[in-house]
Amino acid sequence: MGLGTGRRMPGADPERWFGASQLAQASALHRSLAQVRTCRALADAAVLVLFLALGLAEHLVRPYPQALWTDRVLVVFVALEAAALPHRLLAGAREQWLLADGVAEGAERTGEPGLGRLVVGPIASAVVRLVLGGLLLLCISAVARATPWWPVVVSVVLAVVSMAAAVLYPFVVAPVVDRVVRVNDPEVLARIGELARRAGLGCPTVLAAVGGPIGDEGAYVAGFGRARRLVIAADVVRGPTADLDVVVAHELGHWKLGHHRRATTAWLAAAAAALAFLALADLLVRTLAAGGDFDRLDPRLLPLWMVLAVGAGAVSHLVLCAVSRSHERDADAFAVGLLGDGRHLAAHLRRVMVQAGSDLAPSRWRALSRDHPPPAERLADLLAPPKEPRDA
Ligand SMILES: [Zn+2]
Repeated sequence: MGLGTGRRMPGADPERWFGASQLAQASALHRSLAQVRTCRALADAAVLVLFLALGLAEHLVRPYPQALWTDRVLVVFVALEAAALPHRLLAGAREQWLLADGVAEGAERTGEPGLGRLVVGPIASAVVRLVLGGLLLLCISAVARATPWWPVVVSVVLAVVSMAAAVLYPFVVAPVVDRVVRVNDPEVLARIGELARRAGLGCPTVLAAVGGPIGDEGAYVAGFGRARRLVIAADVVRGPTADLDVVVAHELGHWKLGHHRRATTAWLAAAAAALAFLALADLLVRTLAAGGDFDRLDPRLLPLWMVLAVGAGAVSHLVLCAVSRSHERDADAFAVGLLGDGRHLAAHLRRVMVQAGSDLAPSRWRALSRDHPPPAERLADLLAPPKEPRDA
């Protein structure tokens, strides 16, 4: 069975860590999810190709004069989104159904998904995508019309917006998504403070997430500087202190090694690289169209620009996942150094991964598109000889 990251190490076989029925259940769920996502991506691509091949955009913009470029852009964009809506709704509902049905052994079963998750959720995400996507498209089109330096302008705006979003996340997004509340238990805070002191860090502000399980580890660090918050799943805060220690030690590793800052920088670099790729394509179109009365930003070319943007986004995603996986390995190594050994962290992660329905034995492709290392590889790493904590 492929581990997916090209690294095979002793003890990294999923069969060593998980039972046959756990592996079978996780494989069935994640194979089905991957099939649904692949079908959705192929259907998205088919819509764009059909628009290009049949000249549908040209037909749609005919009633609008050239001067009304915002109307022309929006009419094509809305038509593309409307054409993709049926298969996206079906795929969204199917995904929710699989997730509700396929939660792995040992987890609390969530039961059959209701109308809200099957219908309202996918419709709401389609509306958000339509509004935000339309606004973003109009903004980028306006900048691209105003200056040939549009990739630089858009990169700078993205940098400012993403920094603001990173700072505001614990105060704006986390209360809604994870329903966070401030932890005031003096014993818990003293325990976390002592670990932070040993890691050479100040005592963090701690929030408990009461909205359900969090990712692969049950915790995350959000925000920068004084706005930084350590968010821990409420059941970990209330649970055995040994579990709390290993979760906090891993998150302190992310903090100490500056992973949040590095991940944000990597995201911006990937966005800038994707924009540079689009700028090159823009230059090519301008060169090909030189001399004619051809508008390179003609909305009739929108499907082509969307194909290029989706391709650049997919490559960026794979690079960012590789960066994230290396951060996770380093945070694990830091936690092992801080706690003296990795056995308890391995036992905790193993339990959390099974309960969260994680992809326990991802295929090579699925492992490449995950932001955490394959579970078995991670567990084997944790039981390797302890390493010294590393400074940023
Ligand atoms: Zn982590």
